[in-house]
Amino acid sequence: MIVQEYTLLRTGDKLVRTNLVKLARICCIFLVMATFSARATEDSVSSLAQNPRCASGLEWIDKNSGWVTDQQIRLTEIPAPEFNEARRGEFLKDVFEATGLKVRIDETGNVIGERAGTDPNRVILLAAHLDTVFPGADVRVRRVAGRLEAPGISDNGAGLAALAGLARALSESRIRTTKTIVFAGDVGEEGEGNLRGIRALVESYGPRLAAVIAVDGPSTEHITTQGIASRRIEVSITGPGGHSWSDFGAPNPITAISRGIVQFSSIRVSDHPRSSYNVGVIEGGTSVNSIPSRVSVKVDLRSEDEAELSRMELALRQAMQAGVKEETSGWHSPNHSLQLSFRLLGARPAGKLPDDSSLLQVIRDVDRYLGNHSRLERSSTDANIPLSLGTPAVALGAGGRGGGSHTPNEWYDPSGRELGLKRLFLIALSLATVQP
Ligand SMILES: [Zn+2]
Repeated sequence: MIVQEYTLLRTGDKLVRTNLVKLARICCIFLVMATFSARATEDSVSSLAQNPRCASGLEWIDKNSGWVTDQQIRLTEIPAPEFNEARRGEFLKDVFEATGLKVRIDETGNVIGERAGTDPNRVILLAAHLDTVFPGADVRVRRVAGRLEAPGISDNGAGLAALAGLARALSESRIRTTKTIVFAGDVGEEGEGNLRGIRALVESYGPRLAAVIAVDGPSTEHITTQGIASRRIEVSITGPGGHSWSDFGAPNPITAISRGIVQFSSIRVSDHPRSSYNVGVIEGGTSVNSIPSRVSVKVDLRSEDEAELSRMELALRQAMQAGVKEETSGWHSPNHSLQLSFRLLGARPAGKLPDDSSLLQVIRDVDRYLGNHSRLERSSTDANIPLSLGTPAVALGAGGRGGGSHTPNEWYDPSGRELGLKRLFLIALSLATVQP
């Protein structure tokens, strides 16, 4: 077989050679075109950075990252658990107003600061969520060896402070842009907020939105271009309850839900598309010597693919039904039953920014100009909503380093945060187009 193939190649030799020459020429043309276009866009970022007004904004960032860190500490120390973002929002409103933005708070609770461009019909939205996952936590910021420690300091104290810093840098630079730049501290990103803040923003700006950048957490190393779909479901089981001794044998909702959780957590979760689940909160029962009459559990399901998410939701429902059946069968009292119910707490749609999107091109050009290395990522963020509607969107970090997100040991290291601020500054101005 090998000899035959070789012979075939020999007989078509001339043809192959001619085609190779053609292919090489085409490749050369594409290579030259790609080099020129990469250089052209790179040049446009470098000439933007040399624009005296832009340069003064960049210089402000270099000299004032301490001011940004101060805002981050003050914002973080105002508690803002989900559905209680108003106080932090009021503070952010004052910060935005002091930078010269035209600020309002919409009926959802979003703090919206506008910097008008010459074309009011084209809008670049920079959004950072106000809310945290820590109801009742001590949010005082501790400084430990150059690091800041507090729940919510990175997620999303870093993002909110970055918006304040960008608004201030733009105001100091006195740059005029074609598109309007909107800064928004939005509500309802975490937990059961179901992205209600960004949903309201995307709805109100509608077709005027040219691009959305969600600024979430620290780092400059990622560009989140894919929004992971998620569903958050509360499973509840109720029953007759009773005395632990005299009513022994009545079905126990806590035992039933535990059986269901064990069954569900033994299912295989897909790697492709990547999927995950988390049993996050369990509540129920009144005392150690009472058979509980109610229990509930909150479960978070995520996947890159909506169909896989539906499969996981079905598996959860079946596992819980099986758990109830197990608990109420056998030696338990046949006169009692358990009621099982499901409640959808939130659903986030999936979405993906196309690889050839001009938004992605702008970010890559700015990264190349700054010498910043970044990779594409998938996550569940405010960007899910615009992405699911076909509006160009990404989630980016605010710069600096951080860790322990969604834990009480969350930390943020502001050293080097200027890179993240300059990156966002140049991206916003490239997208909004600077007026001569
Ligand atoms: Zn976040």
